[in-house]
Amino acid sequence: MRIRQCVHFISQALLVVRLRRVARLTRIHCEYVEFFLVDASTSEIAAVERISVDLLGRLANAVAGQLEVDAIPKRMVLIGVGKAVELNRLPAVIRDAPYLRQGSGLWIPRCGIGVVPLGNGSRVQRTIIHELVHGLLDQFSDGFKFPRALEEGFASTSEALLTYNMRKPKQSQIPLCDSGPLNQTESAKGNVSIDRLLGLLENGSNSKEYTDEDYEASVMGTWLHAFLTRMGRDNRKIRNILGKIQRNGLRSGREIHIWLMSATGLTESELDAQFAEFCRGKPPR
Ligand SMILES: [Zn+2]
Repeated sequence: MRIRQCVHFISQALLVVRLRRVARLTRIHCEYVEFFLVDASTSEIAAVERISVDLLGRLANAVAGQLEVDAIPKRMVLIGVGKAVELNRLPAVIRDAPYLRQGSGLWIPRCGIGVVPLGNGSRVQRTIIHELVHGLLDQFSDGFKFPRALEEGFASTSEALLTYNMRKPKQSQIPLCDSGPLNQTESAKGNVSIDRLLGLLENGSNSKEYTDEDYEASVMGTWLHAFLTRMGRDNRKIRNILGKIQRNGLRSGREIHIWLMSATGLTESELDAQFAEFCRGKPPR
């Protein structure tokens, strides 16, 4: 644990030094997050300054609650990349960050650094929250690898719940990622099996492009996370699903799926059928 923290600390410090050499950095410190904004405009800086201590506190509580731990966040570093920046001048870890050129943020676990594009106007706050969820999950679980679909699902849900400040969203308000709400045709794709979703990108994506698989992991992962959260209201064994996955040491999609069947007493096809129904608007039985 200490070694990991040291590696993060050194990577963060080195990156800031290298960024300072090639760009104008604005540092904003709020609670446990240090933002370094690269060549940011006045309005981009103002958007980050609007992030409140209260919001960051609720975010840390939400992640600790999901993992069922009592944890206080340690310092986190988030790099905000201004719209005007010339990406090619930046260090490779940012310049080559997957999806950045397509306007999406990401969390880099090996460095303990989040990268967020600032040019997204009103979406900046949501993107920051989303990446911090990944960072806090990584920090509080000491680097545990959660299945991609469920982690993306939890991040997308938290992002929307915290920024909209909704307590109990109705099923019709299940918050979705950039793509907006699933329409009926897409939700018919709720026929995607749970096994396939849990196995999706288990080792993370190496692609620099936002692929169909990434899209599926985000959108269907949000539905799968919502489905399991809903089931978890009546079944303590699967409540706060990411925390249960870590506590039970479940490291692969297959292991999680087998555990899920035993915890719910449902077969693979019964679970899939209920999930598909849930995606079409029916609550789980
Ligand atoms: Zn994400």
